[in-house]
Amino acid sequence: MIHGSLAPVESVSWQSLLSRSITDPEQLLRRLELDPALLAGARAGAADFPLRVPEPFVERMHKSDPNDPLLRQVLPLGEELLEHPDYVLDPLGEQHTNTRAGIIHKYHGRLLLIVSGGCAVNCRYCFRRHFPYGDNNLSTEQWQQALDYIRGDQSIGEVIYSGGDPLAASDKRLAWLTREIAAIPHVRRLRVHTRLPVVIPQRVTSELIDALCGTRLPVVMVLHSNHANEFDAALGNAVLRLRQAGITLLNQTVLLRGVNDSLETLISLSETLGDHGILPYYLHVLDHVKGAQHFHVDDGAAMGLAAEMLARLPGFLVPRLVREVAGETSKTPLPFQTAGTHRLA
Ligand SMILES: *Cc1c(COP(=O)(O)O)cnc(C)c1O
Ligand code: SF4
Repeated sequence: MIHGSLAPVESVSWQSLLSRSITDPEQLLRRLELDPALLAGARAGAADFPLRVPEPFVERMHKSDPNDPLLRQVLPLGEELLEHPDYVLDPLGEQHTNTRAGIIHKYHGRLLLIVSGGCAVNCRYCFRRHFPYGDNNLSTEQWQQALDYIRGDQSIGEVIYSGGDPLAASDKRLAWLTREIAAIPHVRRLRVHTRLPVVIPQRVTSELIDALCGTRLPVVMVLHSNHANEFDAALGNAVLRLRQAGITLLNQTVLLRGVNDSLETLISLSETLGDHGILPYYLHVLDHVKGAQHFHVDDGAAMGLAAEMLARLPGFLVPRLVREVAGETSKTPLPFQTAGTHRLA
């Protein structure tokens, strides 16, 4: 805990943990006993995209280690301001797809709903750094239009709650939305993509579980965890409750230089996910977002890591290595490469 005057994290609501997030680079450096020389770069990076990290996530970082893999995901750096011709504001062209408020419908059968523009954490590698959607929800009329769109398209079998982070929305809002969607006969599944339980495990309340699981729809939750160190007892407990509620748990990871771009780190993440009953789903190569170039791992190295994981892990703990390509009908798998052997010849 930061100071003795605060109540223990376990007894604090997720909303107050969220509002107490660290946003001042100097406070984060002090909290983690880091070199004050990092401050100038952190301030410069934060001027472009603010620092934001909740205390329960900070608790899992190691003190005095500027290379801590959790810290690297959230600490602003001066390098973020370097210009690179391949790194752009909107690498996926989503500004243009998002013509109807709150909806991104790019893939067959699946519709993505921007349930909340807000996130609990500002990840330095995220495209959201250039489009802070704000923390506003859609208006009632816009929600009705989004629901009408789903009602009007029989091919939509799956609705995906996305954001920002959809779990930044209230349990009441999620309960209402889920009931409305479950009342549409052709929708068969609900999927939730979220990083919130990873950074604030206290977000997994019984009200949330009731909101998501209270209808006929099977629920799949795709967590966004990038490193095994993100799993502590609180997250383990939250995950257990989600599983006990019958939610299918998957995980997606972004491959990030200096965070998880080694074989041992990726294997440890997959094994840890397996320990918690979570299946690795996707390993994404980085979107070429301006300001994130220092996280870049080249394709050859990424494919080599994927091949080596396959050689070391059961198949169901190997995520699919993919990239998002604007205009494609699905995520695009990177071509397979064998792990230094020539067994395919
Ligand atoms: C990634 C994504 C999906 C889901 O794709 P899956 O391959 O089914 O996980 C759906 N819609 C959009 C717009 C996406 O970017
Ligand atoms: S959308 Fe996901 S990756 Fe981006 S800032 Fe929010 S939690 Fe992080």
